Amino acid sequence: MSIEVSHLTKKFNNFTAVRDVSFQVETGSLVAILGPSGSGKSTLLRIIAGLETPDSGDVKLTGEEATFLSARDRNVGFVFQHYALFKHMTVEQNIAFGLKVRKMPKDLIDQRVSELLKLIQLNGLGKRFPSQLSGGQRQRVALARALAPRPRVLLLDEPFGALDAKVRDELRAWITRLHEETEVTTLFVTHDQHEALEIADSILVMNKGAIEQEGTALEIFDKPATHFVAQFVGETNYIESDLCEPELVCWGPFKFSVNGFKLGDKIRIYFRPNDVYVSSNPETLQVKGKISKMRFRGPLIELTLDIGEQKSITALVPKGVALASGFRESSQVYIGITDFHAFRSN
Ligand code: ADP
Ligand code: MG
Repeated sequence: MSIEVSHLTKKFNNFTAVRDVSFQVETGSLVAILGPSGSGKSTLLRIIAGLETPDSGDVKLTGEEATFLSARDRNVGFVFQHYALFKHMTVEQNIAFGLKVRKMPKDLIDQRVSELLKLIQLNGLGKRFPSQLSGGQRQRVALARALAPRPRVLLLDEPFGALDAKVRDELRAWITRLHEETEVTTLFVTHDQHEALEIADSILVMNKGAIEQEGTALEIFDKPATHFVAQFVGETNYIESDLCEPELVCWGPFKFSVNGFKLGDKIRIYFRPNDVYVSSNPETLQVKGKISKMRFRGPLIELTLDIGEQKSITALVPKGVALASGFRESSQVYIGITDFHAFRSN
């Protein structure tokens, strides 16, 4: 195990920024911490890096107690969104910085720097200054600088947050390859669910200082453990209703089979737009609806479906299916919900 944190709590005055957080990160894995702004992600990362002291709990790095080690003694690499490169130093000098501090012999430094330039695919640009690089290239240099001293773990706090969407996409793919090559245990903080779902082996979803769920991208997406996760990760419809019969929630013409609820419970049902099946034929679908709006979203089409009694839901269908079915605004359609999650809301 490379990172083990147990019962970490951190308060700023009366405000609890990190609340009893425990998790483990296996050696060599890439784990994302996903949560909205203000959920405590950076504070948690700063505690692991040694830049912040917890009020209680402890941090172990590669099995060793590290809670009270200084940042310098932890041998942790980090890259933050605004962790700028040294402007007056070239790319090579930036990458070599941590090695010089550690008094590594010059020939070994040169060797390591050229290895890293190759790794970040910037061979030939070693003599440039940061101002002569693009934003994406600069963040790659920041990563090389963090990796140079062969840290025990790499902590990345929204490293691509300041870059535009296309560059972020490229760097995401790149960081997955980089991780496969270096196998450095990496903790990656982001508020962007696509980033987390795409790059991480496993994801910790954080809300209000606490971890709400830990799992693979698939588990988080398909089996949300809490209201918050269901709403925050992926798009979702939700409706609120109650039991009309034991083990059955009714909402307009829809019926959802549930268990573990009792009469009088308010129940919230979440279902994803891509789990709404829409057809122009009745097939076995009994719920009728009307397409009130169609919105093109690349390969998918978003349908707003009116079900009557001022009820409407959203469906996402592949463009080909929508065209082949002749869907258009005000078409009558038949609707089924193929997957949903129910939580008590009172
Ligand atoms: P995130 O990285 O998820 O956006 P942060 O860890 O930066 O969240 O912040 C969590 C909460 O703690 C925020 O409400 C923030 O205002 C508060 N906070 C963070 N650092 C400090 C600090 N040094 N002093 C007071 N409050 C802080
Ligand atoms: Mg932050």
